[in-house]
Amino acid sequence: MQTTATEYLVVGTGAVGMAFVDTLLTDDPEATVTMVDRYHKPGGHWTKAYPFVTLHQPSAFYGVSSRPLGSGHLEQTGLNAGLAHLATGAEVLAYFDAVMRERFIPSGRVRYHPLADYHGDGAFTSRLTGETRQVDHARFVDGTHLKTSIPATHTPSFEIDPDVRFMPLNDLVDLREPAPGYVVIGGGKTGIDACLWLLEAGVDPDDITWIVARDAWLLNRRNTQPGDAFFHDTIETQAAQFESIRDADSIEDLFVRLEACGYFLRLDPEVEPTMFRGATISVAERDELRRIRNVVRLGRVTHLHADRIVLEHGEMATTPRHVHVDCSATALPWDLEDKPVFDGATITPQMVRAYQPVFSASFVAHIEATVDDEAKKNELCGVVPLPNTNLDYLRLTRAGMINQYLWTLEPGLGGWLAENRLDGFSKLIQGIGDDEAKRAVMRRLRAAVVPALGKLEQFLADAG
Ligand SMILES: Cc1cc2nc3c(=O)[nH]c(=O)nc-3n(C[C@H](O)[C@H](O)[C@H](O)COP(=O)(O)OP(=O)(O)OC[C@H]3O[C@@H](n4cnc5c(N)ncnc54)[C@H](O)[C@@H]3O)c2cc1C
Repeated sequence: MQTTATEYLVVGTGAVGMAFVDTLLTDDPEATVTMVDRYHKPGGHWTKAYPFVTLHQPSAFYGVSSRPLGSGHLEQTGLNAGLAHLATGAEVLAYFDAVMRERFIPSGRVRYHPLADYHGDGAFTSRLTGETRQVDHARFVDGTHLKTSIPATHTPSFEIDPDVRFMPLNDLVDLREPAPGYVVIGGGKTGIDACLWLLEAGVDPDDITWIVARDAWLLNRRNTQPGDAFFHDTIETQAAQFESIRDADSIEDLFVRLEACGYFLRLDPEVEPTMFRGATISVAERDELRRIRNVVRLGRVTHLHADRIVLEHGEMATTPRHVHVDCSATALPWDLEDKPVFDGATITPQMVRAYQPVFSASFVAHIEATVDDEAKKNELCGVVPLPNTNLDYLRLTRAGMINQYLWTLEPGLGGWLAENRLDGFSKLIQGIGDDEAKRAVMRRLRAAVVPALGKLEQFLADAG
């Protein structure tokens, strides 16, 4: 067995591992890194994604900090026209490939081992040669912790009879024979993508049946836009979000207010969402989805038979010719093991800002490179929990606000955030100059922060 030495052993060359290493290389000029991944190229789940996948949030703040993704243009056509570019899966993969080949490897400080399974304790085995290597390392970075689950690689939680036409949405593009109807299983962002793709491809909305176990609150993409032109959409809605929290009389009232101010969207105005997973959607996409009238709300699927589908709260008919599209993977699971980001020699990059995994990984690398004391590092990298229910929205908002406040107390951090490409919003705020309308928005935002935080604490304490 061959033994080599490195300072950082990073397992996972997904978005998180890549964003971490990129910032580490910049902020610690001495660091050496070994990267291991079982896939054949960098990009993690994007290497197995469905062919029509795109980013859900703007390209402008996705990827690694040192290299732009996309040209910064707005979408010209489609249901996101006028909003920031959303890179396709192919663009994301080409981007991470270029980061590895043109930045990491030529730096002479990164060794990359694709197609290798990591077993623990610094050992990994090549899938091609079977050779096992041992890497002596000072720090272990777990770039696999978020455990992204996608339809192409997960195992559905329900039974499927052999004569059912069932496939992950990846296989829709390979259909050879039309179906009398499409049953999309899953109400999350992947299910949304499948429905929108079918509609765009010309499938009659009445030929789509959409199984939605629980309705979710959805983030309005218009409020996640970088660039000065969107200042009022992004920052003013943030102010409105904090004011909604501050002024709410109850948790129920809070969600009413968040919808009224344009922070949240919902699929059906008649159905109260009980779930929140951070999915992002445009108003035009939401309106398009409303063309689908066969939305089945009978809980989760438990068994797919050739002629009927059994759900938690009922049954519905189907046929062996219908295509059943699996969109039931959880993407980012919410029930991850609780652990600190920094624990001795182990670093586990996690969310330190809600909905921002790559910014968070970059931030964790910056703190690793610039702060010595472990307690201080963990204080600055408080873990923002991944959401599942409405109450989780309160938890993650509270955790994110506390982090943001602590960061303002740290000398030099404000400047670093504004320079980091993955931080879409600090730049926007720092660039307002003497624009009075924008300054007024900032005054509203600042006035609402502390009372909003107090209200979140109160609601969460009341909820137990
Ligand atoms: C459809 C979709 C769209 C998204 N859009 C956005 C967006 O617009 N903006 C945004 O910020 N986020 C978005 N996300 C989430 C985000 O992209 C990140 O992908 C997420 O944080 C997961 O990245 P990761 O690196 O943690 O995990 P992964 O991509 O799953 O990477 C983990 C890597 O670890 C490797 N690995 C695991 N175990 C081992 C082992 N034992 N040995 C060797 N290798 C191992 C895997 O092969 C994989 O390459 C999206 C996610 C999905 C599913």
